[in-house]
Amino acid sequence: MKICDMHTHSNNSFDALNSVDEMCQSAINKGLYAISITDHCEAPMIKEGKLCRFGYFDELIPKSNMETMRAKEKYSSEIKVLCGIELGEPMHDEKCTQKALSYGEYDFILASVHNLRGMEDFYYIDFSAVDIKKILNLYFDELAETANFNNFDSLAHLTYPLRYIKEKTGVIPDLTEYQNKIDLIYNTLIKNNKALEINVSGLYKGLGTTLPDETQIKRFRELGGKYITLGSDSHSSEYVGKDIDQGIELAKKCGFTHYTIYEKRRPILIEI
Ligand SMILES: [Zn+2]
Ligand SMILES: [Zn+2]
Repeated sequence: MKICDMHTHSNNSFDALNSVDEMCQSAINKGLYAISITDHCEAPMIKEGKLCRFGYFDELIPKSNMETMRAKEKYSSEIKVLCGIELGEPMHDEKCTQKALSYGEYDFILASVHNLRGMEDFYYIDFSAVDIKKILNLYFDELAETANFNNFDSLAHLTYPLRYIKEKTGVIPDLTEYQNKIDLIYNTLIKNNKALEINVSGLYKGLGTTLPDETQIKRFRELGGKYITLGSDSHSSEYVGKDIDQGIELAKKCGFTHYTIYEKRRPILIEI
């Protein structure tokens, strides 16, 4: 079975450890068919000539792009290297998003929401001291907006806040009351032929499930979802490809016969 990891971070992401080369070499050693380098670009934080605490995206993203293009050529006989980006909060600032997308030629664009308008990344929120329902309602509303944005290929780690809610409170909230909002997101993805990511980092990072989980992946399929991508969200070479096989098994269990990789923004179906 072909294993492809469509969500990985090189040290051009502020929170990751290894170089593009090291990430690719690890993928080759593990026998992967494809790896996509998707470094962070928090779109709203791009301000002309301004350094933010996540780094200077004007330099980091073109550098990620250039190094990945080089690796694509260097390792072309061993692995398919894909040039990606994890575009954070593309709906918060249209101008910044346009700038982020002009940084390079991408094979694959992941869209994600790490923080709500005017708020910190969910990572920094003390969920034992906030109204979780209010935050989840806002989160799914912003994801619906992101799905509508449309200039991306796959929607990353839906249910991302659950990782931190569980970490801070010990409980994973039931999503039944948000399902109408989530269905709206799925229907937009389906209508626009976009993919839903199965982010397997939850399996090896303590959440105990993928993001989103089995119930949600089944629901996406039930509504007519066609494309799914698989990502380890690895922030070091050690975790490249980690638990992607489990993600594939889960996709199969949920009724998918293929998963998808993207090259030059075009979907390529991989049989499972
Ligand atoms: Zn992310
Ligand atoms: Zn990521």
